[in-house]
Amino acid sequence: MTSKKTDVVVIGAGPAGYVAAIRCAQLGLKTLCVDSWLNESGQASPGGTCLNVGCIPSKTLLDSSHAYQHIKTETKEHGITVEGVSIDVSAMQERKRRVVTLLTKGIEGLFRKNRVEFVQGLGKLVGDKQVTITSSTGAATETMRVDAEHVIIATGSEPAALPQIPIDGNAIVDSSGALAFEEVPKRLGVIGAGVIGLELGSVWNRLGAQVTLLEAMDTFLPLVDQEIAKDALRNLKRQDLDIQLNCRVTGTQASETGVQVNYKYANGATQQLEVDKLVVAVGRRPYTHDLGAETVGLKLDARGFIEVDEQCKTNLPGVYAIGDVVRGPMLAHKGSEEGVAVAERIAGQQGHINYETIPWVIYTWPEVAWVGKSEEQLKGLGADYRVGVFPFMGIGRARAMGETTGKVKIIGDKKTDRILGVHIFGPNASELIAEAVTAMECDASTEDLARTVHAHPTLAEALHEAALAVDKRAIHI
Ligand code: FAD
Ligand code: NAD
Repeated sequence: MTSKKTDVVVIGAGPAGYVAAIRCAQLGLKTLCVDSWLNESGQASPGGTCLNVGCIPSKTLLDSSHAYQHIKTETKEHGITVEGVSIDVSAMQERKRRVVTLLTKGIEGLFRKNRVEFVQGLGKLVGDKQVTITSSTGAATETMRVDAEHVIIATGSEPAALPQIPIDGNAIVDSSGALAFEEVPKRLGVIGAGVIGLELGSVWNRLGAQVTLLEAMDTFLPLVDQEIAKDALRNLKRQDLDIQLNCRVTGTQASETGVQVNYKYANGATQQLEVDKLVVAVGRRPYTHDLGAETVGLKLDARGFIEVDEQCKTNLPGVYAIGDVVRGPMLAHKGSEEGVAVAERIAGQQGHINYETIPWVIYTWPEVAWVGKSEEQLKGLGADYRVGVFPFMGIGRARAMGETTGKVKIIGDKKTDRILGVHIFGPNASELIAEAVTAMECDASTEDLARTVHAHPTLAEALHEAALAVDKRAIHI
């Protein structure tokens, strides 16, 4: 067994781990990053869930399917007639694979540029800041021991399972399977109307599948401001996404054409659904298999997350954990920011994250995006607040684009006027939310946003008008 010494070992090269490794190297720390992911060709593929089976492939398919649907249903209004529009699913999937490969190779390039040593393999904690790496590419298996001053664990998450509905990788799949269909299923069932269910349900719905989502909760998107969630639900239903709330799947059985799904509403009524494919999208759980947590006494909480303090320190000295494997939202950008903050703390700087201003986006169309507190949360806290709402219907650019669905809602503190939350359902909400995040990060008031000049004509004018509306002085309504 070979051995080496280094300043930092990062276990996992997802958006948390690879960003942490690059930042460590930028700060002059000798850094090694190990990741176990292998692509279909058996090659190392850094980038974790996000690049391989998460953010990037899902957005690639969302963009392809959006373009297809747009050409089919929207261009006519612009005077453009397109005949014989069709979708070649294999070509769409090939494009997705190219995008993923380009980006995963890009990470290897960034590692080289920043002098991060990247090793494909499984990292295991075996002692005090001691990690073994077992590499599995090629014919031989090699093991290396690394002694480090600091260890950063960024092993991510995996899909949560329903014990009564095992994934068979054919008719019943998880999110990775639903990203890889080689043809459009005629009837698609999705268990869970959360972020993944809505995004992947949208992809296949736009391409022609009849999609039914079965959701256990009686509230649609409970984390989202309910005024926005209700608008989104109404609109998604209009797009023929059949979203059933308040129901639990009790079991499935193979049928002649696919799967029969048995489910039960809270009032006891039972139903059956025949689908060609069934996606289980009921959340994700932290991934710590094969990490050696027990061997070294690394503390996990009751739900399997690695326990950390507000600085991402674990119970073991010099060992940090970041990203999906620790508390907080399971979002790529949250993990990356924790990676930067931990690297800076290791280098003796003051790494800091404002968890109050982490944006969320759901990439349906229109998109849902928000930052800060919802009106329901503020009510629960007994806060005094004012609300300004502005619909995209009143925005010239939205009219020009033919994208008038949705609204912007801004909530400000009644006394200080500080922005407490911004909630958007509308076109390009994923991009628009950045302005709100910056404003909140700078402790801006709704008046600050109202007095900020916004270019005309832009969708961002909806944020401006919503800020004006807090003080009942919106212009274009
Ligand atoms: P991961 O990305 O899971 O990476 C962990 C890495 O560690 C993996 O490569 C794994 O192989 C490796 N690893 C694990 N154990 C070991 C070990 N012992 N040794 C070596 N390597 C190991 N988030 C967003 O912010 N925006 C989105 O649009 C978005 N879309 C998503 C769509 C889908 C379909 C899914 C499933 C997720 C999506 N997410 C999105 C969530 C996002 O992918 C995760 O929050 C993010 O990838 C977490 O990053 P991470 O680095 O903590 O872990
Ligand atoms: P989720 O928590 O968003 O949604 C899961 C849904 O499944 C919930 O609404 C839950 O009530 C429901 N559910 C749970 N058990 C059920 C059951 N037995 N029957 C019916 N419904 C059930 O989780 P997800 O959609 O699997 O996504 C996992 C995580 O990945 C997200 O929370 C998010 O952190 C991340 N993600 C983010 C993005 C993004 O940022 N755009 C996209 C995809 C995934």
